[in-house]
Amino acid sequence: MSLSPEIRAKYKPVIGLEVHAQMLTKSKAYSSDVNEYGAVPNTNVSPVTLGHPGTLPMMNTKTIDYAIKMGLACECEIAEEQHFARKNYFYPDLPKGYQITQDTTPICTGGKVTIKTESGEEKAIRLIRIHMEEDAGKSIHDIDPFNTLIDLNRAGVPLIEIVSEPDIASSQEAYDYLTEVRKLVRYLDICDGNMEEGSLRCDANISVMLKDATEYGVRVEVKNMNSIRNVQRAIEHEIERHILAIENGETLRQETRTFNALDGSTTAMRTKEAANDYRFFPEPDLQPIKVTQEKIDGIKEQMPPLPSQLFRKYTEELKLSDYDAGLLTDQKPIALYYEDLISHTKNYKSAANWLMGDIKSYLNNLAVGIEDFPLSAKDIAAMIALIDEGKISNNLAGQKLFPKMLEIAKEGGNTNPLEIAQQNDWIQNSDEGAIKTIILEVFKENPEEYERFKAGEKKLMGFLMGQVMKKSRGKADPQSASKLINELIK
Ligand code: ADP
Ligand code: MG
Repeated sequence: MSLSPEIRAKYKPVIGLEVHAQMLTKSKAYSSDVNEYGAVPNTNVSPVTLGHPGTLPMMNTKTIDYAIKMGLACECEIAEEQHFARKNYFYPDLPKGYQITQDTTPICTGGKVTIKTESGEEKAIRLIRIHMEEDAGKSIHDIDPFNTLIDLNRAGVPLIEIVSEPDIASSQEAYDYLTEVRKLVRYLDICDGNMEEGSLRCDANISVMLKDATEYGVRVEVKNMNSIRNVQRAIEHEIERHILAIENGETLRQETRTFNALDGSTTAMRTKEAANDYRFFPEPDLQPIKVTQEKIDGIKEQMPPLPSQLFRKYTEELKLSDYDAGLLTDQKPIALYYEDLISHTKNYKSAANWLMGDIKSYLNNLAVGIEDFPLSAKDIAAMIALIDEGKISNNLAGQKLFPKMLEIAKEGGNTNPLEIAQQNDWIQNSDEGAIKTIILEVFKENPEEYERFKAGEKKLMGFLMGQVMKKSRGKADPQSASKLINELIK
């Protein structure tokens, strides 16, 4: 049952993703209950969350702000008025018996998320819509052997659902799209993007079609993937399953399937015929809410820089490579630290190298984020300036000055790199006279090497340089030292 590359190449995968993102609001979507992950079960649960008769929902307008932020970041059309709908269903973990969502009037329509394809080109994945809704509670099946336990803390937590057009053409593109969406919600500070904890979830719609076909094939929807990698695995599995079925003359059914992380397979949950009829109707307990242009403009003004904007700035204005710009913009805190750095130095490349090199390894070793890095961007920029002015060598900075600055920072001392270098007598000597004297001494003390070097044995340069550096206790500027050795040998 394996698929040959030739057969696979006849088909084109068609993929559309539905992403749910939990909003990082302080309270829930329609009540003042606290919205927090990991609280003691059933403690953030008021009569509104419990759906008691007589209680009324109240819209948390922060959710609207957050959805607008995402809409602006994706260049969506923002609806002027927010209408809500009831989606009726037997939800065991949503006591109201319906979900308040948006049906025919999503807050955002159109727009796009741009990814980079394997060939390095940009590809826009168009969005159909982004709408607001609420999460259900959590049914827990693996604590009590006989009963399902229910934690209603999550019931009523605000969500946005981001629905893409079926523009995604491979499992790799799905991976890149999700990575980009996660990066966006994190940059916008509206969702923590944690798929393992379920604050970002993805349902994948998948079909395949012959490359010259004009109609989409039958699609399935796969649920329950708890990482971006698992979304990719589920899609890969479905593409193969669909092609094999079609090649074997079987008919596929439109159905919902669940992903099994252990073996990467999927299992049918329910078919289209058994699809739920949600009986959507306008939510009578919530007034429509107006979104003024003023409000949108206000949110626009406070938008943080977006990863794609920073990427463009770093490659086009600062002339960094795509690779460097990608690493720098991957995580918002790193990008912000870099922004801080380049407000203090014009040596953009060196700043990027320090951040992605020595600083990143320091953070990795301690398994902490840049938020916990003890040195200010200003100090790092000052250290870069010392190197650029020829006062210390790059080597000395990496091996001695930078570790010393960290050590002092931990004790809460003064981390000014110039002062530390002076106190430790690390300022390098580029005074030609002094270096010349040292070189002549080295020649005298190593007559044999001196003669061989003079006779043309170029590789002895390393040895002579080593002696000069040793004699100067690392303070001779290597560039002028090697220049002077070459001059003096003549
Ligand atoms: P539903 O309401 O049943 O979830 P939608 O029309 O809202 O259906 O589509 C949901 C998702 O399915 C969207 O992301 C869309 O891009 C995707 N989709 C639609 N048709 C196909 C198809 N033939 N193959 C793959 N994905 C599809
Ligand atoms: Mg769906």
